[in-house]
Amino acid sequence: MSDIIKILPSDVSNKIAAGEVVQRPSSVLKELIENSIDANSTRIKIIIKDAGKNLIQVIDNGEGMSRNDMHLSFIKHATSKISKIEDIFSISSMGFRGEALAAIASVSMVEMESINDNQNGHFIEINGGELLSEKESNIQEGTSIKIKNIFYNVPARRNFLKSDFVELRHILDVFHRLAISHPEIEFSFINNEEEIFYLKEESLNKRIISIFGEKIRENLIPINESTQIANISGFVLKPEFSKKSRSNQFVFVNNRFIKSQFISHSIFASFVGLLKDGYHPGYFLFIDIDPTKIDVNVHPNKTEIKFDDDQNLYSIINSSVKHCLGIYQVSPVLDFDKDPSMDISYDQVNSKPTNPTIEINSEFNPFEVFNDEEINKVPGDYLSSHNKLKLNDDNNQALKIFQILNKFIVSTNKSSLIIINQNLAHQRILYESFLKSIFENSINSQKLVFPIELSLTKKQLLLYNKIIDEFKSIGFEISLKNELMHVESIPFGIEKNNVEEVIENILNEDFNVSNDFSTADFFAKRLSKITSIKSGQKLNLDEQEYIVNHLFSCKEPNLSPDNKQIFITLNKNDIENKFNG
Ligand code: ADP
Ligand code: MG
Repeated sequence: MSDIIKILPSDVSNKIAAGEVVQRPSSVLKELIENSIDANSTRIKIIIKDAGKNLIQVIDNGEGMSRNDMHLSFIKHATSKISKIEDIFSISSMGFRGEALAAIASVSMVEMESINDNQNGHFIEINGGELLSEKESNIQEGTSIKIKNIFYNVPARRNFLKSDFVELRHILDVFHRLAISHPEIEFSFINNEEEIFYLKEESLNKRIISIFGEKIRENLIPINESTQIANISGFVLKPEFSKKSRSNQFVFVNNRFIKSQFISHSIFASFVGLLKDGYHPGYFLFIDIDPTKIDVNVHPNKTEIKFDDDQNLYSIINSSVKHCLGIYQVSPVLDFDKDPSMDISYDQVNSKPTNPTIEINSEFNPFEVFNDEEINKVPGDYLSSHNKLKLNDDNNQALKIFQILNKFIVSTNKSSLIIINQNLAHQRILYESFLKSIFENSINSQKLVFPIELSLTKKQLLLYNKIIDEFKSIGFEISLKNELMHVESIPFGIEKNNVEEVIENILNEDFNVSNDFSTADFFAKRLSKITSIKSGQKLNLDEQEYIVNHLFSCKEPNLSPDNKQIFITLNKNDIENKFNG
C-alpha cells in the first residue's frame, strides 16, 4: 500500500482550528477586543450588525501594526506576544497563541486597517484566508478590523448559528466581561446602528453600575483580602440581590474572566443560610495570583483554568467572602463609592496559606475594644430611637457627659470612659447624612429670600460642572449665568451667612480624586469638613448629646471621613494600669 498520511493544506487546518477558536460571533468579538486591549488601547468601539452574523467591527486607538505585521498577523502561530515556551507561564496579555486572526480569517471576510508610528496607514482585505486586496489607508490611529459574513464558506456552521437574540446575548456576555475587567478603557457599543453602551473610563463600581443599572449600586459589598496565596478584591452582591440564574457571577483571575466550578462552589458555600432555595449569589470577584501557579492554557477559549493549590484557594475565597458578608451584616453598606478600605475597619486578617481562618464577629460594635463582656449590651441603647442616652442605666444615675478643652466630649459607660473628638465626630455624622441625601436624592432645602450671587473662576466652574448633580441632590438650587452663580436655595443645616464660604471652599479644592472616590464622596467629605463643629467651640449639653447619639448611629463611628480615629476609650484595666504603672 502506498503512503496514506498527508499534511493538510493550511486553509483546511485553519478551518478545523477555527472550530476551536471561533464557535460563534461572540468568540470572534472576544478575540478582537482582547487584541485591542493587548495593543494598549484606551478607547475601543464595537459595531455589531445582525448579532454579529454580518458584521463585527472593532476600532481601537492602540499601538497599531506595520504593513508587514498586518500580513503576518493572519498567519497561524503569528504572535507578537510570546517567543519561547516559558513565556506561556508568565503571560499577562490576553491572547498569545497567535491563532485567532488566522482562524477567524479562514471562515469570514476580513477588512483590516491599521497604522503605527513609523508608517502610513494600510488596508488589507482577506476572504477565507486569501489576500484579496491591499492599499493605503487614511486611518488616523490604532486598528480597525471588520469581520463580515462569518462562516460564509462553511455553510454547515453558519446554519448552526442560533437566533439573533441568542447570539446577541452571547456577544453581550463577552462584552460585559471585558468591560468589567477593564474599567480604565472607554468602550462604546453600537448594535444595528444604535449605541447601546457608552462607557467612559471609570472606577470598577461605577462600571458595574453603568452596565447593570442604578439598582445594583446599593447591593454591592466591597471585598478586599490579601493573603500570601492570592489577593481577592471586587464586590459581592447582597444576598437579597441573589437571582435564580447565575447571570451575575463574574470571576476574574489576573483580570481574565474564567469559569471555575470550585471557585463558584467556594463562594456559594460562604452564602450558606443566606440564600433562598434555588437562588444564586452574585459577585464580581478579582483573584490575583502568581501566574506561574496557574495554567490558563487548558482550554482554547481560556475561560477554564487550573490552579496548583486548589484547596487553599478554596478556603481563602470562602473565608474572604464570609468576612465581607459579615461586615455588611453588622454595618450595612451605605456608600461603596468611598475608599473601600474604610469598610473593613477592623484589622484585616492575614490568612495563613495552610489553614486560613477568618473570624466573623457578628457582634461587632463600636465598643468591641472593651474587655468587659457585659458591654455588648450597650449598643442597643445607643442605637435606640430614644434621644436620651442611657449609658449609666445600671445605677440609675444621670447621664455623665461633658465637654473638656472645648474640643472633646467625655462620656462614660459601665466600665469605660469614652473621649470623643467633637470635630471629627460631627464630620462623620454630616458625611453620612450628606451621602444619604445624595444617593436618595432626598432634597432638603430652604429657599432664600434674596438669592446669593457669586462669581466663579474658570477653574471653579470646571469643578462645579463636574459635581453639579451633587450640589442639587443635597439641596442647593443654583442657576448659572455665564460665570455668575445665583444660589436660590440651600440645604437645611447650612447657615445663610456661610453659603459663600461653603461653596468657595468646595470649589477651591483640587479635584484629583483617585478612582475609588466618587464625586459624591468628594462632595460629602468637603461639605462635612466645612460645616462641622470645630475644635474650640463651646457646646451646650444638647449639642453634646446630639453628637454622641448621632455618632453611634453612624455606619462607621470609629473613623472620620478622612480615616482619623474619632474617639478613644479607657476601660477599667487601662485606668488601673495607670495607677500601677
Ligand atoms: P495573539 O493575540 O494570540 O498574539 P492573534 O491572531 O489574535 O494572536 O493576533 C496576532 C497578532 O496580531 C498579535 O500578536 C498582534 O501583534 C497583532 N494584532 C492583532 N490585533 C491587533 C490590534 N488590534 N492592534 C495591534 N496589533 C494587533
Ligand atoms: Mg489575540
